[in-house]
Amino acid sequence: MSAIIGQFSHYVFDVPLKVPQKMPSTSGRHFLQIPGPTNVPDRILRAMDLPTIDHRGPAFSELALGVLDGIKTIFKTSEPVVIYGSSGTGAWEAALVNALSPGDRVLMFETGWFASLWREMATRLGLEVEFVPGDWRHGVDPSEVERLLLADSQHGTKAVLVVHNETSTGVTSRIPEIRAAIDRAGHPALFMVDTISSLASMDYRHDEWGVDVTVGGSQKGLMLPPGLGFNAVSAKAREAAKRSKFGKSYWAWSEIIQANKSGFWPYTPATNMLYGLREAINMLHEEGLEAVFARHARFAEATRRAVNAWGLELLCLQPLQYSNSLTAVLLREHDDADQLRATILENFDMSLGTGLGRLKGRVFRIGHLGDFNDLMLAGTLCGVQMGLEMQAIRHGDGVSAALDYLASTAPRRSSELVRA
Ligand SMILES: *Cc1c(COP(=O)(O)O)cnc(C)c1O
Repeated sequence: MSAIIGQFSHYVFDVPLKVPQKMPSTSGRHFLQIPGPTNVPDRILRAMDLPTIDHRGPAFSELALGVLDGIKTIFKTSEPVVIYGSSGTGAWEAALVNALSPGDRVLMFETGWFASLWREMATRLGLEVEFVPGDWRHGVDPSEVERLLLADSQHGTKAVLVVHNETSTGVTSRIPEIRAAIDRAGHPALFMVDTISSLASMDYRHDEWGVDVTVGGSQKGLMLPPGLGFNAVSAKAREAAKRSKFGKSYWAWSEIIQANKSGFWPYTPATNMLYGLREAINMLHEEGLEAVFARHARFAEATRRAVNAWGLELLCLQPLQYSNSLTAVLLREHDDADQLRATILENFDMSLGTGLGRLKGRVFRIGHLGDFNDLMLAGTLCGVQMGLEMQAIRHGDGVSAALDYLASTAPRRSSELVRA
């Protein structure tokens, strides 16, 4: 009865206005603050809004050669980067079936949900996975890598597989230190890294860090819609691929790399996604990759300050492993993270990341990567704080803590002060 009165509350002044269950989201922008897919900038959407061209014609080959060259600068490699029309998961599979053979032993680490999914895929494909258990609050421990590889004196382990940025937990594993651990053990295993939620938002160097296969996806730091998967492939991985006994066709690197040399694919590629990728690469270089990384680091620090001032807990326990592309926030025992997310979506039209797997209901994740600026972060944190208020989750003033940090570290602040 009161609900019915509520709906007509503009006639009854002492009854509070009842907000409809699902607010029409036709006004203003939706805040897509999940850690991927991320907000696609208008500039990229416009760049994709072109006629689809003949994928065997000269205009296509010019587009493809430019993009295939440009994407290497993002992975920081001089090796080929294979681009698939696929999700990130497809690129995971491509990495495994090209470089390995059924029955091969691989070393993986339980850093969270995505590492667990990649492990499940490896198992289903017939690889023998040694899965190092983890608490979903720490990254890969390089000394553990060294210890396990030293113990493998027969070199039965064919690959070490690591998720760089564990998107389910906001924990980053330190790739150069893991490379150094493999080298200290003098072990010949291939090194494969999933950078799906770190590429183009956190420092990453395929060649310098001695990675053999780097797996990427289009819909996170690259600011594109979902739909492209990437494998950056070292000479050692291409050599290993020649001995691979997995059956494969669509994923096979060799035919694609061969066709790519003249700017083509063995099949119809995702032409309009490549227009978008060309624009994304241009945007990243206009800002400068180092500036892109610094921007993400600053947003991550502001977000952590908000979490601390709210009196909530960061899921990541090690400051050296804090992710710069997302923050996972742990609620207190009896507070429901999914209820909080639903309240924020219904009232403020903002999507936040859910708690995955064993973190369901306990954690929500704030994506602060891709096409994102200070006021978008401020709006995001305001939405979270209003949600905490509405859900009666005890909290301090995280927004003020973040705004103070953003104002005092604004990139152009120092030059303005000098002039004043
Ligand atoms: C998003 C993500 C994936 C899965 O990518 P899909 O495009 O959803 O298949 C895998 N690994 C990590 C680290 C991710 O963030």
